[in-house]
Amino acid sequence: MMLTKQILQNAINQQAPRIFSKKFSDSASSGVSFTLSDTSRELRELVRKFAREEIIPKAAEYDRTGEYPWDIVKKAHEIGILNSSIPASIGGMELNVFDSCLISEELSYGCAGITTAIKANTLGQTPVIIAGNDEQKKKYLGRCIDEPIVAAYCVTEPGAGSDVNGIRTKAQKVGDEYILNGQKMWITNGGVASWYFVLARTDPDPKAPAGKAFTAFVVDRDSPGLTPGRKEKNMGQRASDTRGITFEDVRVPKENVLGAEGAGFKIAMSTFDKTRTPVAAAAVGLAQRCLDEATKYSLERKTFGVPIAHHQAIAFLLADMAIGVESARLVYYKAALEVDQGARNSYYASIAKALASDVANKCASDAVQVFGGNGYNTEYPVEKLMRDAKIYQIYEGTSQIQRMIISRAILDKAKNS
Ligand SMILES: Cc1cc2nc3c(=O)[nH]c(=O)nc-3n(C[C@H](O)[C@H](O)[C@H](O)COP(=O)(O)OP(=O)(O)OC[C@H]3O[C@@H](n4cnc5c(N)ncnc54)[C@H](O)[C@@H]3O)c2cc1C
Repeated sequence: MMLTKQILQNAINQQAPRIFSKKFSDSASSGVSFTLSDTSRELRELVRKFAREEIIPKAAEYDRTGEYPWDIVKKAHEIGILNSSIPASIGGMELNVFDSCLISEELSYGCAGITTAIKANTLGQTPVIIAGNDEQKKKYLGRCIDEPIVAAYCVTEPGAGSDVNGIRTKAQKVGDEYILNGQKMWITNGGVASWYFVLARTDPDPKAPAGKAFTAFVVDRDSPGLTPGRKEKNMGQRASDTRGITFEDVRVPKENVLGAEGAGFKIAMSTFDKTRTPVAAAAVGLAQRCLDEATKYSLERKTFGVPIAHHQAIAFLLADMAIGVESARLVYYKAALEVDQGARNSYYASIAKALASDVANKCASDAVQVFGGNGYNTEYPVEKLMRDAKIYQIYEGTSQIQRMIISRAILDKAKNS
């Protein structure tokens, strides 16, 4: 455990960019190096070991029962990877997005559902990290450091997911408090979080621009009137806890407004600049697992007297998986570096998320194909991978929304050039 802390501490001291080695970045003519720094490599090895030893042996059982993986979440807290983005001033590791991505990829190789349970915590925390004042950070992020608790990010509603401007949860200011009423849907960690990031409409004028109409709040789980619904029975990632949340006259002190009244939409959306790329990285982790499982099986399973890997049709499926995995990994590296270097990375983050989630789905489907009938059965690992992969094309912005962001960026650039 101490070793982990030391590695992560080193990571704080060595800020981004990390995959450009010093040797190369000092030399104007040498171009790009894809070599990880020693710190990032050690971190990756550590999380890889954690995934192999703590997650893989239990993943199928958590998938079967749908139980929340508290024991793994607690161990992740112990070694520092549950709260890896929290600022060092609060006691966190303050890892950059690149290293956060490495964690996502390695965890997801073990189980995408458990990764979502762990990383949704960072999704809930990020608005506080980017917009919270010292008091809010100390109170809410500090609690996450002190105890193995989790947070959640509540934006989506039954009537509005992609169209965030359509959310209807209202917050009305009364004295020194806001009264929240409404319904959120599909909230990861919804039933287990100790506090929630909540986006609500504060301007009742339907014509008010999104940039002014919404306010961001931190809401305590034990607030009277806040009720999580039943755990949803999802296609995949079943270890993750997804619920609706009802707000009925929930009183939130004005001290819990993040940023200022009206600044909520910007806070909620800029969160994705930091969290969308780690989702892409998680999709790459799942895709790599598909490739590894399919490769192993193709060397063991024989048809027509030879391992199926010797049939070109199967070997080429493996090759296509590798093409997808390697290219999606490079794009998430690029997206992470952009934001770590202080650039707005929505374009690259969307490319990374759209590509990696498509690659994960293709790899999972092809892995099932390589396994034949066995691939369709719960006794083998790949049917879970196929169920787990689908959500990557839906949450944190659907693949259609990513393509809208990418195409808008291209068109805006063309119009302004
Ligand atoms: C397991 C799970 C976990 C989740 N976790 C969270 C969470 O923690 N917090 C949270 O706030 N939300 C969460 N979500 C919600 C998720 O982000 C939304 O489901 C997603 O953004 C899509 O919204 P929607 O379901 O309302 O679909 P809709 O927005 O209704 O979209 C339906 C379809 O229409 C397409 N579409 C919509 N608009 C356009 C357009 N303009 N152009 C082209 N196509 C379009 C979409 O791509 C999609 O294919 C989660 C969802 C799931 C299933």
